[in-house]
Amino acid sequence: MSKFWSRTAREAKPYTPGEQPNELQVIKLNTNENPYPPSPNTLEAMKRVVNEDLRKYPTPTVDSLKSVIANREGVNDEQVFVGNGSDEVLAFAFQAFFESNEAIKFPGVTYSFYPVYANLYGIPFQEVPLNEDFTINVDGMKQSIGGVIFPNPNAPTGLALRLNQVEKVLQGNPNSVVVVDEAYVEFGAESAVQLVEQYPNLLVTKTLSKSHALAGIRVGYAIGQEELIEGLERIKNSFNSYTINRVSLAGAEAALRDDAYYQETLERVINTRVWFKQSLEELGFEVLDSKANFLFVKPVRVEAEWLYLTLKERGFYIRYFDKSKVRGYVRISVGTDEEMERLLNEISNLLKNYV
Ligand code: PMP
Repeated sequence: MSKFWSRTAREAKPYTPGEQPNELQVIKLNTNENPYPPSPNTLEAMKRVVNEDLRKYPTPTVDSLKSVIANREGVNDEQVFVGNGSDEVLAFAFQAFFESNEAIKFPGVTYSFYPVYANLYGIPFQEVPLNEDFTINVDGMKQSIGGVIFPNPNAPTGLALRLNQVEKVLQGNPNSVVVVDEAYVEFGAESAVQLVEQYPNLLVTKTLSKSHALAGIRVGYAIGQEELIEGLERIKNSFNSYTINRVSLAGAEAALRDDAYYQETLERVINTRVWFKQSLEELGFEVLDSKANFLFVKPVRVEAEWLYLTLKERGFYIRYFDKSKVRGYVRISVGTDEEMERLLNEISNLLKNYV
């Protein structure tokens, strides 16, 4: 705390990001990164920009990337907003669509950035407890005064709502914006982008961080009707017109064009998730039915916190949330087959030797 801090800085309750260890040997399965590198074409495109174009500002309207996204998503260019990671898109959405005197709703267990933004912008919020089976309570998400936000699939559970359930939330909130955060949708859930034409209150956010192995260049986007996209542009341009740098723009465009590579790595991650889930279940662990690139796991015979700490000592980083609602669970990102085999081995040995 400093006497120079504004009230906003004093009262901020910042998000705690997952650990980013520096040691090269660790197996890092704690922040849901894609275990495969970006496609060779993506790297080439970025190198070209580094060699030729860094002197110049990027185009603030990012028209070319918007067209590539619009084409891929089957919408018009005017229905696309691009941000510095979907975190930034979400932050802008909070400012553009939520009012400081109207409570928004989000699930009781969800992405922990939502309460951080809400606090930062002075927006009251109501957390809607999950159902017993960890699914989102769809009826509870209706009739929000200020708006709604939830990830689909949800984080950290990995459970996804079907599209008809997403529609129920949209229909239950005709006068406020519903943000569907699809950071992990590519790994097996249904995208709500196909509902955008029908629902003027729907904003869908996506990211290249996970599906396209580009967490490092920070590109995310939103799809919605023109009116909502204009709202986001107003906020962005009041803050910094150049939120996407030239290297990121080139990388994102190239990655989105390289569909074959994307499909192949996506399939690999999904296949690994399937066998790894089954293997954990064979050990007796409880594993939720994930549609994302991570698994939400309740260990048996050992405490979740102990497992997290012990694995960390042995060079495996997974995520443990020190929160009462999910105490007892760990979240494990899906790595390569080799990484997951090593982790499974380690867990089996721990169970044999320590229990
Ligand atoms: N939404 C959810 C649910 C997430 O888990 C994450 C990643 N931590 C994000 C959004 C943000 O991803 P990015 O800023 O890398 O696009």
